[in-house]
Amino acid sequence: MSINFQSKSEKVTTDVLIIGGGPSGLATAIHLADTLKKNGTSQRILLIEKGSAIGSHNMSGAVVKPDVFRELLPDVDFSEIPFNAQVSTDKTIMLKEDESISLPFHVPYMSNKGNYTASLGNLCRYLATKAQEKGVEIYTGFAVDEIMYRDGKVCGAKTKDTGVDHHGHPMDNFQAGNIIEAKVTILAEGTRGSLTKMLINKYNLAEGKNIQVYSLGCKELWSVPEGNIKPGEVYHTMGYPLGKDEFGGGFIYGLNDNKVAIGLVVGLDYIDPSFDVHDAMQIWKTTPFVSKILKGGKLVEYGAKTLPEGGWYALPKLYVDNALIVGDSAGFVTMPALKGIHLAMKSGMLAAQTVSEALMKNDTSEKILSKYEALIKESVIYKEMYPVRNFRQAMAKGMFVGGFHFATQLITGGAGFCGRLQSHADAETTSKLNEFKGKPFNQRFKNKLEFDKILTFDKATDIYHSGVFHDEQQVVHLQINDIKDFERVNIEQYGAIEQFLCSSEVYELHTNKDGKKELRIHAENCMHCKTCDIKSPGKGITWVVPNGGNGPDFQNM
Ligand SMILES: Cc1cc2nc3c(=O)[nH]c(=O)nc-3n(C[C@H](O)[C@H](O)[C@H](O)COP(=O)(O)OP(=O)(O)OC[C@H]3O[C@@H](n4cnc5c(N)ncnc54)[C@H](O)[C@@H]3O)c2cc1C
Repeated sequence: MSINFQSKSEKVTTDVLIIGGGPSGLATAIHLADTLKKNGTSQRILLIEKGSAIGSHNMSGAVVKPDVFRELLPDVDFSEIPFNAQVSTDKTIMLKEDESISLPFHVPYMSNKGNYTASLGNLCRYLATKAQEKGVEIYTGFAVDEIMYRDGKVCGAKTKDTGVDHHGHPMDNFQAGNIIEAKVTILAEGTRGSLTKMLINKYNLAEGKNIQVYSLGCKELWSVPEGNIKPGEVYHTMGYPLGKDEFGGGFIYGLNDNKVAIGLVVGLDYIDPSFDVHDAMQIWKTTPFVSKILKGGKLVEYGAKTLPEGGWYALPKLYVDNALIVGDSAGFVTMPALKGIHLAMKSGMLAAQTVSEALMKNDTSEKILSKYEALIKESVIYKEMYPVRNFRQAMAKGMFVGGFHFATQLITGGAGFCGRLQSHADAETTSKLNEFKGKPFNQRFKNKLEFDKILTFDKATDIYHSGVFHDEQQVVHLQINDIKDFERVNIEQYGAIEQFLCSSEVYELHTNKDGKKELRIHAENCMHCKTCDIKSPGKGITWVVPNGGNGPDFQNM
């Protein structure tokens, strides 16, 4: 029986509900189907994805560690997996405005020997086909906006009502969301998952953990003349245009067919309230090292996304009665390596193993599901994340002090000389306008902010290359939590920081005819990166899911 999404709300029942069709959700689905089959049973597995198609909301670098694919799909011929090129050159470049120095060594954890470049969208499309072959039901274009509870325990989720106007009133095309009852619900929503956030708050799952911190990555896919870069050439850059208080760097990944994926990833703990990651990436592209690779080329696609980088100490409790959290929603990323795909998939496989045992026992209580956390601690996830458990907190102290701390961590197995380092919420690290001591971003780079639309692009041009679309009629999905607080804090004290932190021009500062400043929200541009939910100061902004099928339409990101 398939799900019937009609105007009248329906109740659907399944054994397992997976929310999110990225690598973590798809690996969960595949491994669960396989494990159940091995145990001689079959149960209904349903996966819901908000993108209009699998892959349309998935963006990554990406250089991928391939072993997890062999483990997940042992019967598949490896050459069938749609990786791009095997890494052939792997260098770290120190950038200055007009110079570049190739480091003669690998920064620890940055080696990409044996890894492959890839488009995450392509990998997800492939994994979805494999999941469907194994009987997993995949529904795309449906956003899940509510977790359902019975007797205080998770019992499934609900898809979003559509066909409502700006005020939330039903229109002629109203469609009530469907209630999906499940024995187990798996949250695989990716970075800063909106349901995951609710679950963490409801059950206090982050108690005693470090605060999760994030980076924002802006990426462009280019087509370049033959010879500019070879498939498998991989470069990571440090330095310009980032200053000593900004953590991050650039990536350049050579792909087949004369394509190159480039991007700049910057920690959202920066302090300058006018810092702009999108514009910083454009400035980065003007350096001789990067511009030479792009010369004569053409922009193909653009996207932006955050990634969780708080590391081991920022992982929430991963299970409650009838529910588990996997992938970026939990925070499985090793930041020094800029890698999360293989960890997302491995966490999905371990969740699947736990859930299949729970279903066999007919007991999905948190006592049984706690095995998931135990499995994580015995896995490659722990092995990769624990030794760098203090890395990102150290880097928050600036590249120089942070670099020193990191060196001490390398010789002490990750402990450093100070033990567990704490983190601070990204929204709280920004300086108020009148307290910021440095040179604001637009003065630091005042001669570099005219974009030529050949090498460098304004946000409007880049957004056009993301295929982003949102229904005009719906409640705005970027919700200002307290308008008075917002005007006093965000606009007055921080100079409407949202207009700079958003890399898809959602927020515009407008002065009305009475001279009052207000923020206009162009929700239709939203790339679903969640930066505003993370970095807005004060009571801030809450990102909720818009209508299913809305958002970017990535092809090869
Ligand atoms: C700029 C950048 C570069 C990166 N480079 C690399 C790299 O080179 N190598 C590497 O290994 N990792 C890299 N990463 C990290 C990697 O991309 C992530 O760790 C990985 O994609 C996490 O997978 P996931 O399945 O948890 O989340 P995602 O890939 O984000 O997938 C989550 C899915 O859930 C869907 N979803 C979310 N909420 C809902 C909802 N409420 N209802 C329905 N569907 C929903 C989303 O649309 C999405 O498709 C990079 C990340 C970024 C941002």
